[in-house]
Amino acid sequence: MSSDKTPAVPASNFIRNIIERDIEQGTYAQRKWAGSPGDAAQQASGQPDPARIRTRFPPEPNGYLHIGHAKSICLNFGLARDYDGVCHLRFDDTNPEKEEQEYVDSITDSVKWLGFGWEANNCSHLYYASNYFDFMYRAAETLIESGHAYVDLQTADEMRANRGTLTEPGKDSPWRNRSPQENLALFREMRDGKHADGAMILRARIDMASPNINLRDPAIYRIKRATHHNTGDRWCIYPMYTYAHPIEDALEQITHSICTLEFEDQRPFYDWLLERLTEGGLLAHPLPKQYEFARLNLTYVVLSKRRLIELVEQKYVTGWDDPRLPTLAGARRRGYTPEGFRLFADRIGVSKADSWIEYTILEDCMREVLNESAERRIAVLDPIKLVITNYPENQSEDCFAPNHPQKPELGKRVVPLTRELWIEREDFMEVPSKGYFRLFPDGVVRLRYGYVVKCTGFEKDAAGNVTVVHCEYLPDTKSGTVGADSIKVKGNIHWVSTQHAYTAEVRLYDRLFKEAHPGNGDRDYLDDLNPDSLKVITAQMEPTLKDAKPEARFQFERHGYFVADVKDSATGKPVFNRTVTLRDAWQK
Ligand code: ATP
Ligand code: MG
Repeated sequence: MSSDKTPAVPASNFIRNIIERDIEQGTYAQRKWAGSPGDAAQQASGQPDPARIRTRFPPEPNGYLHIGHAKSICLNFGLARDYDGVCHLRFDDTNPEKEEQEYVDSITDSVKWLGFGWEANNCSHLYYASNYFDFMYRAAETLIESGHAYVDLQTADEMRANRGTLTEPGKDSPWRNRSPQENLALFREMRDGKHADGAMILRARIDMASPNINLRDPAIYRIKRATHHNTGDRWCIYPMYTYAHPIEDALEQITHSICTLEFEDQRPFYDWLLERLTEGGLLAHPLPKQYEFARLNLTYVVLSKRRLIELVEQKYVTGWDDPRLPTLAGARRRGYTPEGFRLFADRIGVSKADSWIEYTILEDCMREVLNESAERRIAVLDPIKLVITNYPENQSEDCFAPNHPQKPELGKRVVPLTRELWIEREDFMEVPSKGYFRLFPDGVVRLRYGYVVKCTGFEKDAAGNVTVVHCEYLPDTKSGTVGADSIKVKGNIHWVSTQHAYTAEVRLYDRLFKEAHPGNGDRDYLDDLNPDSLKVITAQMEPTLKDAKPEARFQFERHGYFVADVKDSATGKPVFNRTVTLRDAWQK
């Protein structure tokens, strides 16, 4: 089913066009790679780079990855795979606060889970930006020495006031024309802890009148007394992100540095910085180039770490891997598949224009993959009893259910039929509505993989709820036998034997937000939470499901796709999470 829709080769896009042009023109063909990140001298001592291109996925380890990151991972690792390149996993950990090992571990797990790796040519391309602090410091001194950076003693307010606006140029700092020697001495004092946090800052010296505000002498190093998870208390000055990122790319010999559109205005500084460091002899051409694409915006979820952290910390969900969260850890527990995410990434493509992607597109990708791969099983989610009054009391007989309707090679399994069965409450109506072809008094229906039965009566409790339905079976109509079709029926319902059923908890997950654009307009996004995003029920299932392994995925016939919860199924009593229904119930 999916094969006709899934392109074998992902559709072309502007980034692929750029890479193909660079390969054709040999833009990066002469590059060398010394086996690890390093400056121009180190790389020059290496071998010709076996990787035709180098891309990178550079998460900040300050949260769990979400579905937006999956787009970036599939893009960067996918390009490296398709063009004989390498993709680095780089932890962008230059900010000493907020970063934790727990996040590092969950990020590596998620990237692997999506089907990608960072081992190539006998080399592990997993890097930490904080390992480049020495180089970043040396690069800053080089900029100072060549007159391209200065220490500014203005207060933050003064700097803001002098930055100018979109229509007015900024004003030069009174400290802008100090000699390199003075700047160098001050910068070393900053490094040596001689000045208070925020007392001064190192700025690039570019152009206070530039129409691009990002080029009006951007800050590149600040004083910040904070313990870093990797470098401890060794530094009390830390590089700014916009300064650190191009350097990280250059040291790793990245060719195509792909980021989201909000960095477009930073590109001139990215190029300026790497050119100055090349003039200073620290780096060499060809330099990495930055390209921007539109980030993923997905309806019915929030894809911002800040909000995800709030949902977790304020306990709107049970944790980072709550199956309702758009984190990759949550999606995994929900039963979403890596194949589904890769299909999704290919299908939405990359573009330069911001837009919203319908959540349904993601769900359809999951349905498509699961329809192919998930075995079928039977579960009754809202059980009432069906008694076959003319069936012997102590008898049990085998019925055979195919594991996959389009894949006979996957075989069949036995489902036992007995006198008492569980059926869905909605498969019986005391007074059938028009077009209702399931059970009702005197109605006839097929018990899927079993017999045709005729409804002969029902029982109700004091509150008027139907508790038991009675029927008689027609002995010559068993599925798979000669004569099974001698009686034509319009309805076909699923069932499990009460005597053999496996009783299990099922979690019916639905969308976490009830609005397509949570928090749109003046609303608080928390007010848009869907109060019915989780319903826990007790279901009756065919006996084979009691042996389901954690993370085993199934289609429960007529209901949707379900997964044995990876955390709560371990004790030999699987619990099931609904991944997605068979059809979209949200489409208006
Ligand atoms: P958030 O905005 O949720 O805090 P972030 O951009 O700060 O995310 P990073 O850890 O810096 O998170 O992101 C790592 C990479 O993932 C970056 O290259 C970024 O461009 C990319 N990325 C993050 N969010 C999205 C998204 N919604 N769509 C596509 N790529 C994304
Ligand atoms: Mg970021």
